[in-house]
Amino acid sequence: MAGVHFEDLSKTFPGRGGGEPVDVIRQLNLTINDGEFLVLVGPSGCGKSTLLRLLAGLDNPTNGEIRIGPRPISDVPPARRNVAMVFQSYALYPHLSVRDNLSFGLRRSQARTTFQRIQDQAFRSTRALPKPLRVRSAREERIEARVNTVARTLELTELLERRPKELSGGQKQRVALGRAMARNPEVFLMDEPLSNLDAKLRTSTRQRIVQLQRELGTTTIYVTHDQVEAMTMGDRIAVLNQGRLQQLGTPMELYTWPSNIFVAQFIGSPSMGLLPVTVGPNATLNLGRKRIQIEGEMVEPLLQREGQHLTAGLRPERWHLAPATNRNHQAEVNHCERLGNEQILSCRLLDCDQLIQVRCSAEINISTGDTINLNPDPTGWRLFDADGEAIR
Ligand code: ADP
Ligand code: MG
Repeated sequence: MAGVHFEDLSKTFPGRGGGEPVDVIRQLNLTINDGEFLVLVGPSGCGKSTLLRLLAGLDNPTNGEIRIGPRPISDVPPARRNVAMVFQSYALYPHLSVRDNLSFGLRRSQARTTFQRIQDQAFRSTRALPKPLRVRSAREERIEARVNTVARTLELTELLERRPKELSGGQKQRVALGRAMARNPEVFLMDEPLSNLDAKLRTSTRQRIVQLQRELGTTTIYVTHDQVEAMTMGDRIAVLNQGRLQQLGTPMELYTWPSNIFVAQFIGSPSMGLLPVTVGPNATLNLGRKRIQIEGEMVEPLLQREGQHLTAGLRPERWHLAPATNRNHQAEVNHCERLGNEQILSCRLLDCDQLIQVRCSAEINISTGDTINLNPDPTGWRLFDADGEAIR
């Protein structure tokens, strides 16, 4: 087992059709601890797949180094990096049975003599015969035992003789996971492995992956664009944007204390509402004609910033429906999304003409066009400076 270290890693692709070169990864420093489950998120095209491919050896970095444990891997060929990758597209061999798909990586991982190769081939062609007629091969028997264990864990035993085209999407994905597991790698790389599955199957497979990772304790990097996967699966989340690491922390750290506006908007759905404010006296914010009192941890940093223009962020669940008073904020409801357990209101704050979203109970009867009154949680505000960096 081993941690993974990206050290000052950069990757530049030559421009397509004579265009400008593209800096896809920019001086990335990131350490994934031994046995950790790291979720990697970021908008499409920000370099997530590229990062996994660099680690797997499918591409070479332009600069910097990657280490697995203490060992730099630049000069280690892909097959010997002891990394297993699972793709969104499964990438199974269509002409091989599930059994042979699972064992493929195991066979390739060690060099064999010609004699061993013939022996292994003979083992496989005779394995369906009665026991006395089978050719033995210690190596193939080891592989078979490993495949059977993995198949049991992933409930694939009944499917071992099938071809990929005879499997459902979920079954194929389990084979792809099994193939990665069978090799018992030091690091698992998963690139949006569940995005081709329907919602129900995603939930169950998500739980299975987390459980397996816990049991095996294999260092894992998991790429997703799914908010629920990001929040629930990993020990930590790394947010990437334009090849730069934006923030690294536990899901709740990122959710409650995003380090900049990008992370604030990227983590959480619906995303944090952002409002232009100026700082008033005694830890207050002026929003349009309204004065907002701040409480809690943001009071201290605000006291020295009177007069500054900032961006104030508040999550949709931090606005509360309230009676009409001078202090509360009037809003016009533009759209209601009733989700059964809750509803999401898209509204316009009348005093400052800004749009926000509000999360509230599904039981409250509100319709489009209604005017409501809102009271912001005074401890829920997050503040960002002109560069979009969080104020702490
Ligand atoms: P993500 O997985 O985060 O969506 P990728 O890592 O696949 O993003 O790609 C990041 C950027 O690198 C994209 O702009 C993509 O077009 C570019 N890119 C990826 N592979 C190549 C390549 N082989 N040649 C040139 N550009 C590439
Ligand atoms: Mg990708």
